[in-house]
Amino acid sequence: MISGPGGVGKGTVVAALVDSHPDLWLSRSWTTRPRRPSEDETSYVFVTEDAFRSRISEGGFLEWAEFLGNFYGTPTPAAPPGRDLVLEIDVQGARQVVAENPDAVLIFLEAPSVAEQEARLLRRGDPEDKVVQRLAKAREEADAGIELGAHRLTNVEVEQCAADIFEIIEAARNARRSTSA
Ligand code: 5GP
Repeated sequence: MISGPGGVGKGTVVAALVDSHPDLWLSRSWTTRPRRPSEDETSYVFVTEDAFRSRISEGGFLEWAEFLGNFYGTPTPAAPPGRDLVLEIDVQGARQVVAENPDAVLIFLEAPSVAEQEARLLRRGDPEDKVVQRLAKAREEADAGIELGAHRLTNVEVEQCAADIFEIIEAARNARRSTSA
């Protein structure tokens, strides 16, 4: 699982990670948030609140959370056989996944600086009031990440950050293999 506040470049890093590792599989989340002008239709499954709520009542999410007034969730079924599931989710969702799967690996990404994070949020077209909310939320999320024992990485350069994440995944796979051997 990859978590981290808005504006740290999670989406770009995760895309670089799964593009170079076919043994990883990125889940496409559902959201009730409107699509940003900078996003294409495949960034999420964009749905109405009614559609989201009916999927909740059918038990169709691995996890879901409300984040700044919108719903986000990981639909089930998850990864195809033989591939490890990668989730880009908020810390509330990560907490649910860890509760069900204690072996799940959580990586919390941080921006090199608050100024850089703010610039990224504005660049991608977030309205200014949302930028303020997201920056305030970032501090809460970092605390929750620490509490969940996340690996913390700073996203200075995308390819390097993706490589660092893969190293953490490989270490977790090796640890899993040695305990199941
Ligand atoms: P954004 O609106 O910036 O795309 O996403 C807001 C937050 O929701 C981010 O922290 C993002 O990682 C998180 N998020 C995206 N998809 C999911 C999901 O399926 N489940 C949960 N719990 N959070 C998600």
